[in-house]
Amino acid sequence: MPLPAETAPAETAREKVPVTAIPGDGIGREVMAAVRQVLDAAGARIAWEEALAGAEAFRKGISTGAPQETLDSIARTGVALKGPLETPVGYGEKSANVTLRKIFEMYGNVRPVRELPGIHTPFSGRGIDFVVVRENVEDVYAGIEHMQTPSVAQCLKLITEVGCERIVRLAAAVAEAEGRKKVTVATKANIMKLTEGMMKRVGEQVLKDYAGLTHEHMIVDNCAHQMVIRPEQFDVTVMTNMNGDILSDLAAGLVGGLGVAPSANLGDHVAMFEAVHGSAPQIAGKGIANPTALLLSALMLLRHIGDFATARKVEHALYVTLEEGRDLTGDIAPEGQGAPTRAFVERIIANLGRESEKVPEREYRPIALKQWPQITWYRAATTRELVGVDVFVESERDPHAIGITLGAAAEGSAFTLAGIGSRGAQVWPAMGGHTFLVDHFRARFLFKEPPKGNGITEITDLLQRIGRQHNWMHIEKLQRFDGAPAYSVA
Ligand code: NAP
Repeated sequence: MPLPAETAPAETAREKVPVTAIPGDGIGREVMAAVRQVLDAAGARIAWEEALAGAEAFRKGISTGAPQETLDSIARTGVALKGPLETPVGYGEKSANVTLRKIFEMYGNVRPVRELPGIHTPFSGRGIDFVVVRENVEDVYAGIEHMQTPSVAQCLKLITEVGCERIVRLAAAVAEAEGRKKVTVATKANIMKLTEGMMKRVGEQVLKDYAGLTHEHMIVDNCAHQMVIRPEQFDVTVMTNMNGDILSDLAAGLVGGLGVAPSANLGDHVAMFEAVHGSAPQIAGKGIANPTALLLSALMLLRHIGDFATARKVEHALYVTLEEGRDLTGDIAPEGQGAPTRAFVERIIANLGRESEKVPEREYRPIALKQWPQITWYRAATTRELVGVDVFVESERDPHAIGITLGAAAEGSAFTLAGIGSRGAQVWPAMGGHTFLVDHFRARFLFKEPPKGNGITEITDLLQRIGRQHNWMHIEKLQRFDGAPAYSVA
């Protein structure tokens, strides 16, 4: 049936897109109101669903900091614009931000790093324009920690092959969506050969699929150095969670700091856009907060929902405003000339329709995310051998004495004691170095001959023998998958 004239295709295409707006805490409410005002003035066709999260939710007794109605709204709209969230002292184990990222598996954090006109930094004029793509849910941020002894703490760094593939493909998709040409995978693979090494290996493999992109690997500490020395060389960078966390803040610092840094958290089902800065409680309620970071995040949102024209219009108006330098908020205005948020917003709105030559011309396309199936990801090894076990023991004795007792414990068992290490350095047999000793040792036991079954009986016997003299905290099986060692060498 033909559509009536007033709902012709052009009009239906501009139907309002539902988006969840979470103002959040501190300056969140002010910057959210400012951004919505600009988007509305620019004609963005968004149907806002306002939702609560953060300090107020925690104080209402919601332990996650995000009420069910908020989660339902995000699940329904699939798109959110979020202000900063606080976790008040004494409430909640985890921040509401982390909870939202985890619940909706927003595995990719995307942070554009681009020089802005009128924002003067030591790097102004260098033409910095790159994107940091950070893995958002794995790594040490899984938050799996255990005290090993009263004075030794451990945090598990979990990196998965599929997690690496997802984030590298996202980085490639971002590059393609923005017509960029190069992806730099930055890792610490030289030290963490299994975890960071997996990111390097998967990155190099996966990026071969993208004929239009060149790719390179860079050791992450050098990447930090290069970002400061020659930031123009970067186009899209991709990193595991903690490396990406640190380097994306460093990168934001190059172009004006957290106050003007936008970000997107992307997953298969939900995209959440937010400023990088926090709730800035010192200036909350004063009407002087800078909404630029949230506005730049909203531009990413507009492009995500396919409204490229409005994004372009707002971006140009913002650039014109920054370039002309009138009515800027105090954090970016010359000393003593800061204007209220309201004046800055009005100036941007007045500039809607004007064009800035400073906006890099870029043909944006939607980011084409690979859809991952809802399954438990499993990859079998063709061969799997159990060759030994690392037993972590607590002891105040010296390595020689521990070597004697553990060696004796292994006598008559299926294992031989191959060596003892302390914080990664071999201390028995002695290497003649000066390792400072703490009460936490890794004892490596190797099977005298391959176990006939799954090795559990032999391991249990060994642990009982060790347990008579030492407190052991945990064990790690030493396995070989497809013939390759699945553990770090001593
Ligand atoms: P912050 O809120 O980013 O504020 C640090 C300082 O940066 C502010 O005091 C202010 O400096 C300036 N600033 C930040 N955003 C600004 C803006 N839009 N306009 C003008 N100035 C701005 O960092 P924080 O003090 O470490 O964190 C405060 C709270 O926010 C904490 O509870 C933290 O957990 C939370 N937080 C939330 C998120 C998030 O939800 N994604 C992120 C980071 C922090 P001056 O005071 O010098 O003007």
